[in-house]
Amino acid sequence: MQIEDAKIYDCVIIGGGLAGLCLSILLTQKNYSVVLIEKNKYPFHKVCGEYVSMESYDFIKSLGLNLDEMDLPIINQLNITAHNGYKITSQLKMGGFGISRYTLDYELARIAKNNGVQIFEDCTATHVQLQNAEYTVETTLRNFKSKLVCGSYGKIEPSFIERTKSKKKRNFIAVKYHIKTSFPDNLIELHNFKDGYCGISKVDNQTICLCYLTTAENLNENGKSIKEMERNVLMRNPHLHKYFSEATFLFEKPLTISQIGFSKKQTYKNDLLLLGDSAGAIAPLCGNGMSMALRSSQIISNYMDKYLQNKLTKDELIKHYTDEWNTNFSFRIKAGYYLQLLFGKYQTTLWSLKLLRYFPVLFRKLITLTHGEKF
Ligand SMILES: Cc1cc2nc3c(=O)[nH]c(=O)nc-3n(C[C@H](O)[C@H](O)[C@H](O)COP(=O)(O)OP(=O)(O)OC[C@H]3O[C@@H](n4cnc5c(N)ncnc54)[C@H](O)[C@@H]3O)c2cc1C
Repeated sequence: MQIEDAKIYDCVIIGGGLAGLCLSILLTQKNYSVVLIEKNKYPFHKVCGEYVSMESYDFIKSLGLNLDEMDLPIINQLNITAHNGYKITSQLKMGGFGISRYTLDYELARIAKNNGVQIFEDCTATHVQLQNAEYTVETTLRNFKSKLVCGSYGKIEPSFIERTKSKKKRNFIAVKYHIKTSFPDNLIELHNFKDGYCGISKVDNQTICLCYLTTAENLNENGKSIKEMERNVLMRNPHLHKYFSEATFLFEKPLTISQIGFSKKQTYKNDLLLLGDSAGAIAPLCGNGMSMALRSSQIISNYMDKYLQNKLTKDELIKHYTDEWNTNFSFRIKAGYYLQLLFGKYQTTLWSLKLLRYFPVLFRKLITLTHGEKF
């Protein structure tokens, strides 16, 4: 028999990544009672390129995390290479900073706890039910009741959520390492290889994040061995060859995720309000999925506040949030999707890079299309 928490919370949040953690902080800043369910235990590593677009720098600081004091690398130069090593360079107008998810999520969880968020770690949400305007959230630890439930569980939908049918069947996998080697603070590199690309940039603690995305077919063609795929495919790019043969790899084994798709999903599904990657994920090469997750938490918190004060009905809450979500993110996701089609293909990638080298204005415009304004 599952333990029942008798209290009716204002909100239960499922998933304590950036979207869920920031929403929990924003709601407690407005004195709402919040439970956050996270299936892992902080701090933990996550597959992510760990380059955060500058658009969210001030927002993160406003939540109570003083990024200025963390001596983080500030990144303002992008190098992209084709499979054969051909390279183009661009200055990044807005740029970004590097911070590991291990540090960022842990620090935000610490702030959330201090603000009064009830965080349940090592705890998985297993079922959600809405009855007479009251939600019951079942988890592996206990059941909770609330007025609203938000899903910020990331890219992969939990079993209690009806699967989003995707027209595009391509299944992507991603792999991440932390490495040590000589690497400038201000640089992010994007190296193409057959059916994938690899991002490299510095994070906190003088560590470098190396993270790549490729198709599941690529792994299958290499006997399902990550090492083989790296040797046979990634290392054909001379820049990647150098990192894989010379750098010190800090993890005992690579961190991996699979079944990744990039598309707009829904902002309200199975009675849950969705934010972050749960509502739609952008192609990682754009480097602003994290900022979108953060921004979506800010947008939804304003409408939830009005709903909890009876200034909006539930239907109005859903409509206003969905409209604002679309205004902010729909175009960016589409632009990122089409941009990703130019990557990881020998001739297409090479010719695209050659074109962009001679039209730097176009290069900068493409970067701008996938990014938002500071918030
Ligand atoms: C290869 C790759 C590289 C990327 N690189 C970058 C980059 O450099 N810059 C950038 O801005 N973005 C990048 N992104 C995108 C970025 O990682 C995501 O957009 C961002 O993490 C989304 O945050 P989120 O809070 O929505 O989800 P997540 O950070 O994925 O958090 C979801 C959380 O929910 C938890 N969870 C899931 N199911 C349950 C459940 N049933 N019960 C309880 N907890 C649950 C998970 O454990 C997880 O902690 C990259 C993505 C990929 C795949």
